[in-house]
Amino acid sequence: MKNSEITSRDLKYIWHPCTQMKDHETLPLIPVKSAKGIWLEDFDGNRYIDSISSWWVNLFGHSNEYITKKLSEQAHTLEHVLLAGFTHEPAVRLAERLSKITPGNLNKVFFADNGSSAIEVALKMSYHAHLNRGESRPLFLSLTNSYHGETIGALSVGDVELYKKTYEPILIKSIQTPVPEDISEEAAYEAIKKLEEILKAQGDKISAMIVEPLVQCAGYMHMYHPVYLKLASELCKSYKIHFIADEIAVGFGRTGTMFACEQAGIVPDFMTLSKGLTGGYMPLAVVMTNDEIYSAFYCDYLEYKAFLHSHSYTGNPLGCSCANAVLDIFENEDVLRANRKKASWMEELLKPFESLENVKEVRQTGMIAAVELKGYKPEDRVNLKIFEFCLKNGVFVRPLGHVVYFMPPYIITYDEMHKMIETVYNAVKLLK
Ligand SMILES: *Cc1c(COP(=O)(O)O)cnc(C)c1O
Repeated sequence: MKNSEITSRDLKYIWHPCTQMKDHETLPLIPVKSAKGIWLEDFDGNRYIDSISSWWVNLFGHSNEYITKKLSEQAHTLEHVLLAGFTHEPAVRLAERLSKITPGNLNKVFFADNGSSAIEVALKMSYHAHLNRGESRPLFLSLTNSYHGETIGALSVGDVELYKKTYEPILIKSIQTPVPEDISEEAAYEAIKKLEEILKAQGDKISAMIVEPLVQCAGYMHMYHPVYLKLASELCKSYKIHFIADEIAVGFGRTGTMFACEQAGIVPDFMTLSKGLTGGYMPLAVVMTNDEIYSAFYCDYLEYKAFLHSHSYTGNPLGCSCANAVLDIFENEDVLRANRKKASWMEELLKPFESLENVKEVRQTGMIAAVELKGYKPEDRVNLKIFEFCLKNGVFVRPLGHVVYFMPPYIITYDEMHKMIETVYNAVKLLK
């Protein structure tokens, strides 16, 4: 079978995510036949470096032998059972382990099956916890330029115009406070002043503040200083507003620590995790919270205070077994230390970009790096030009508008990283 056969069959039936389908009149789809490590291979035998970990989910490479083995064993034992009234060992073990490795007292785990659903759970749980304690707080607070997923509730607390604007009239109530303008400490303090004003005016109406700690990934890889998290979480506490750390993209070592919150020394009231949780194998998500929130729901059934949210695939055993395999790898290998070295290679390899005239800024937090271009308008579609050039040269990148970024699987070697970055450098240099 050739690429062209698969793609023409595809376009008859499949409506792709995050895509203007008309683009595919000229832009070929890439049918992936197999993948190993950081390499994707199509039906014509072309190979591409997966420099964005397939939308940030893959940590330890495609077709990872260890995770595959654990998944396969689980599939032969118990593929799924409902989690209401039933339980299973992979979920129990995963919950125990997650509560040990997440910061502070996050020792209650609610399962969901994708990131957006985890956000819905955290928002509903926060609102409902206040309500069960006798307070109705109908608002949520988030940062400008934030992204928390695309179901209605998650979209409501997000602030990326491209995804949100169309649906504005049907969203739930939320307010945005400015994200620090850049990674400096001064910018963090400046943004805190605005947050203080909002809390003073509307603090008693807000259930929770939700943030992406350190890096707003879908928000063009915007990065900010950890002191903002520290001060914002303290302020929220003083207004009895829950603090939700959305670590769906930045959790599991992406920013240099296991969880980004650690760099600010904070313990949120809720932490949402997905993406890297299963190493890119299965859709799974969790909302971590504490005993205080949990106890707000704990009472006799007829008091109508229980959290009755559910998804069919809640806590799927296959997903949990992959997540346990991922945690095994973190336990058995010093992943964070190896990543520190890889992050420093990345920093070094990115230096040449700084002397390009069309580069505005190069920024990096751990294993996330971004090159922001300047002088282009949306209609120039530089993202497509860079994508196509790199693809021809064996590297898959998916720039966010005028921001090219690298978020490779952790198993990337020096030579692969060199090829990945050099190819993008050549693409950027050739842009007119
Ligand atoms: C991807 C993402 C989500 C949504 O997760 P999905 O599984 O795509 O629904 C939420 N928050 C952040 C920070 C994300 O990066």
